[in-house]
Amino acid sequence: MIPNPLLIALILSATFLVLFAIERFAPLRAPRGELARRLLVNLCVSAIAIGTAYFVVAPAAKASLQYVAIERVGLLRWVELPAALELMIGFALVDLSFYYWHVANHKIPFLWRFHNVHHIDPDLDVSTAFRFHFGEVVLSAGLRVLQIVLLGISPLTFATYEIVFQINTLVQHSNIRQPRAVEPLLYTGRSTPPMAGGPDASAGRGGQPSFSRALLAPPINRATSAGRMKRASCWTRCSQSSMPT
Ligand SMILES: [Zn+2]
Repeated sequence: MIPNPLLIALILSATFLVLFAIERFAPLRAPRGELARRLLVNLCVSAIAIGTAYFVVAPAAKASLQYVAIERVGLLRWVELPAALELMIGFALVDLSFYYWHVANHKIPFLWRFHNVHHIDPDLDVSTAFRFHFGEVVLSAGLRVLQIVLLGISPLTFATYEIVFQINTLVQHSNIRQPRAVEPLLYTGRSTPPMAGGPDASAGRGGQPSFSRALLAPPINRATSAGRMKRASCWTRCSQSSMPT
């Protein structure tokens, strides 16, 4: 089962519109600049990134999935696991490898030259979610191929991760204020908007951005995320007009 691109586009578009509407009523941070101008830039950059994903990443992933299914190569193809367990382990391994890919994007100067397009957005909201340089998207196709072939990822695991990952990306970047009492309940190993909305927006390379991807994160990331959550809560209370430094 390879996810239908049209169905995914509809789900993500609906999620984007819902989050964009909520941001108008319950913003976490006050904007620094004019929304219309940012929105135009972000939507143009995102459209190129999504187009690149459609024409480069999707075919590469599809070919890799077919190769793994036919040749039965990769870690999860060499061990016989119940389907549900294989899905959970495959999901976790893909997520973990994405975590380190994100870290590499901050630590390696060549990768950072592309990735900083995502972090130099002067404000952070749902329109930032897919603001990626198309070069980074092309490079991520290589990562997908490695993930699928080395881990032996099945189409079901790939499809499940893609949908969860993309929806979480939208939620994580959204500028939505949530009750402070609710925040710890939502933080169950994933980064929430107040956490992602702080340093990840402005720190960039050399800072302390939130590296978590979909749901899982290594302990080191959880520890730094927990610290940021406290700071982010303070920003929510103390300052609606400034971004963290
Ligand atoms: Zn980053």
